[in-house]
Amino acid sequence: MAAKIIDGKAFAADVRGRVAEHVAGLQRDHGLTPGLAVVLVGEDPASQVYVRSKGKMTVEVGMHSEEHRLDADTPEQELIALIEKLNADPAIHGILVQLPLPKHLDEDLVINTIDPAKDVDGFHISNVGLLSTGQKSMVPCTPLGCLMLLRDELGSLSGKDAVVIGRSNIVGKPMAQLLLGDSATVTVAHSRTKDLAEVVRRADIVVAAVGRPQMVPGDWIKPGATVIDVGINRIDAPEKGEGKTRLVGDVDFNSVSQVAGAMTPVPGGVGPMTIACLLANTLTAACRANNLPEPE
Ligand code: NDP
Repeated sequence: MAAKIIDGKAFAADVRGRVAEHVAGLQRDHGLTPGLAVVLVGEDPASQVYVRSKGKMTVEVGMHSEEHRLDADTPEQELIALIEKLNADPAIHGILVQLPLPKHLDEDLVINTIDPAKDVDGFHISNVGLLSTGQKSMVPCTPLGCLMLLRDELGSLSGKDAVVIGRSNIVGKPMAQLLLGDSATVTVAHSRTKDLAEVVRRADIVVAAVGRPQMVPGDWIKPGATVIDVGINRIDAPEKGEGKTRLVGDVDFNSVSQVAGAMTPVPGGVGPMTIACLLANTLTAACRANNLPEPE
C-alpha cells in the first residue's frame, strides 16, 4: 500500500496563517509589531535564497523584517557589534544569523552573543540547555517543524520507537530531545552507527537528517512507519535536460513510499515548516518580551 504523503507545504501555510492572525491582534490590541532581523555574512548563493524567502514571509505575516548583509571578509568584532546593537533594539524580537559563516568567524562565539530571548534559531547554549532539561526555551525551527508534523500525523508519540539519523546541533540532537520530551524511545544514529539498516528497521518513526541523497531505501523501513525526510540535496537530472538538477531528500522516495505508513516529500515537506516555525518563534519571542500570553 502506498504511503500517505504528508503535505508540509499546506501545513506550513496554515501555521503562517495563524501567526498572521496573532500578529494582527498584537498590533490592534497592544500596538506591538514583532520584528525579525536576519544577518547574512558573505555571498553563499543558497543562503541568499533562504534569507530572501525568510524576509518575504516575515513581511507577509505582518511582521517587521530587517536584513543585514555583510561582506564575506567582515571582521568578527564588526559582526559582534551588530548583534549587540540588535540585542538592544526594542523593535527587534528575533535575531537569526544565517549559517554557515565564513571560516574566519567563530560560529559558537557569534551565536552565543545573541540574546537568548531573541535567539529564534534556538542555537544559543542557554536554549540548548533549557531544551535538554525540559524547560521553556526557543526550539530550533527545523526539528520543531518535524515534531509538529509528527504530532499531527500520529497524535501521541509516547512509547513509539524513534530513530533519528544524524546528530548535528542544528537538526539531529534537538530532534532527539524533542522526541524524548514527547516520551518516544529515541535512538540517534550517525556515521559510526553499526548496521544502520537494522537500527532503522525497528523504528515506528524515522527522521533522516544526513545530507546524503536518497540514502534510506524502502527495505530499511518497518511497514507502516512514519518517515520524516529533512535532507535537501541537489542532484543531476538529465531527464529534465542537459545540465538540469532537482532536489531530493535523504530518503529514497519511490521505494520508501511503498512501505511507510506516511512520509514527507522533498520538496514540500519539512522545508516550508522551517520558515513557518521561525515566524512562530519570532511571535513567541515578541509575546514573552512584552509579558503577553504566548500563542498555542
Ligand atoms: P550535518 O552535515 O551537520 O550532519 C549530518 C549528520 O549525518 C552527521 O551527524 C553525520 O554523522 C550523519 N551521517 C553522515 N553520513 C552518514 C551515514 N552514512 N550514515 C549515518 N549517518 C551519517 O547536516 P545537518 O544536520 O545540518 O543537515 C542534514 C540534512 O538536512 C542536509 O541535507 C541539510 O541540507 C538538510 N537540512 C534541511 C533543513 C530544512 O529546512 N528542511 C534545515 C537544515 C538542514 P557524524 O556526526 O558521525 O559525522
